[in-house]
Amino acid sequence: DRSDVAGGAGGAARGSGGGIYRGQEAVFVDGRWRPAAGDGTIDVVDPATEQVIGRVPAGTALDVDTAVRAARTALPGWAATPPAERAAVLAAARDLLAARREEIAATVSAELGAPPAFATAVHADLPTAVMASYAELAAAHPFEERVGNSRVLQEPVGVVGAITPWNYPLHQIVAKVAPALAAGCTVVLKPAEDTPLVAQLFADILAAAGLPAGVFNLVTGLGPVAGQALAEHPGVDLVSFTGSTAVGRQIGATAGAAVKRVALELGGKSANVILPGADLARAVNVGLANVFANSGQTCSAWTRMLVDAARYDEAVAIAAAATAKYVPGDRLGPVVNARQRDRVRGYIRRGQEEGARIVAGGPDAPEGMETGYYVRPTVFADVRPDMAIAQEEIFGPVVVMIRYEDEEDALRIANGTVYGLAGAVWGADEESAVAFARRMDTGQVDINGGRFNPLAPFGGYKQSGVGRELGAHGLAEYLQTKSLQF
Ligand code: NAD
Repeated sequence: DRSDVAGGAGGAARGSGGGIYRGQEAVFVDGRWRPAAGDGTIDVVDPATEQVIGRVPAGTALDVDTAVRAARTALPGWAATPPAERAAVLAAARDLLAARREEIAATVSAELGAPPAFATAVHADLPTAVMASYAELAAAHPFEERVGNSRVLQEPVGVVGAITPWNYPLHQIVAKVAPALAAGCTVVLKPAEDTPLVAQLFADILAAAGLPAGVFNLVTGLGPVAGQALAEHPGVDLVSFTGSTAVGRQIGATAGAAVKRVALELGGKSANVILPGADLARAVNVGLANVFANSGQTCSAWTRMLVDAARYDEAVAIAAAATAKYVPGDRLGPVVNARQRDRVRGYIRRGQEEGARIVAGGPDAPEGMETGYYVRPTVFADVRPDMAIAQEEIFGPVVVMIRYEDEEDALRIANGTVYGLAGAVWGADEESAVAFARRMDTGQVDINGGRFNPLAPFGGYKQSGVGRELGAHGLAEYLQTKSLQF
């Protein structure tokens, strides 16, 4: 009977073996696994094999309500816990994430379809790095400051409703839960229905790390049921959402009507701008790797490659040749489910209809890959900036290559979508690339390749979102300020 396993015991027993976390038909509320209110369930499917690998509850509004009440009850105690003690729990969680690295990688590999090496290096190690950063920030952050004759207190916002997507399932969770806990907030998490297993594993880790009962709660379920109930719950003070712009808009409207805090990480259509003096082969190859990683299911992916007219044909030839190395089933995993596969293939057909030229890949299933939700890595040339494939987020392994005439033209194209999440600039030198990046309407830009920094704020300009995650900016999202005058 798993329903009475108090987090740690059950989780620790399965740790370090490298097998996948099999999942619990239970919700995690007030420090323990308990049966959900209803009897609906969600099957978890391995997108590479199409086999069911686990089953979790389809939680309802009743489960969400119980979880929010638990989080409210736990709030005063956790908010009053000294930051150094909160930091110690996060440090313990970091160590447990590191200890269960193989199991996390295997679990994400199974429920998302990520190739094992990528699952380990990114899906397991990235959340561990983010948890480590918040263990440090929680200890070092000045929660009280003097400003003139005032004392300014930074207090937790309260109960956080976190709603996360499947594309980086554990990273997206940790990017919300770690700063929320560091700030002194309590949390109810509704993870994506496609990838709930690693979320359950994480609940076990937090309990084993010594997090008090009720501070973190997990309700699996469908977006329009459990997700919506969480976003609308009057006991939630802040809704932090990552996912599609369509759902984000709805959550923003709900939060606005209730005057509650909201953070939205939404879609992107980021530009990879290759300036005339740049190392073309490197910029094209790294640009493709950036998109094809995670089968194109990265909101910040550089899906539009902008190349000057003089070197455009050369860039297209490099891209077409390099794409052959991304063999589906080997270096390139499937996409998450049949719906996404059909959606991505639909965009590839749409690109053909719009008159763009396929130079690698295409809409058909990869050869010999009848099972699994695979899509061929696809590169389009002769793409006009106004085509749907150059404007809309495809969320699959598809790159569009756009020709520009001069830097002003490149800037117009780069800034010419409703999105503004990320981007890249490659120049002959750092200065010219930075000068261009300053003029881009986007939240994050990698200069001549860049390197991931877990302390760098991440989030969108324009319709890519509201608020920032990671680092001190991410922590600030979960704090509200009070000033005392003397
Ligand atoms: P989605 O927005 O439907 O789902 C994200 C999360 O929101 C999930 O946990 C889901 O259950 C929940 N949700 C769905 N409807 C809800 C509602 N009405 N109220 C509250 N919560 C709700 O995204 P998706 O269907 O998984 O993916 C569709 C598209 O979203 C993708 O093709 C891509 O364009 C985009 N996407 C973006 C990101 C990102 O990181 N920005 C991540 C995943 C998907």
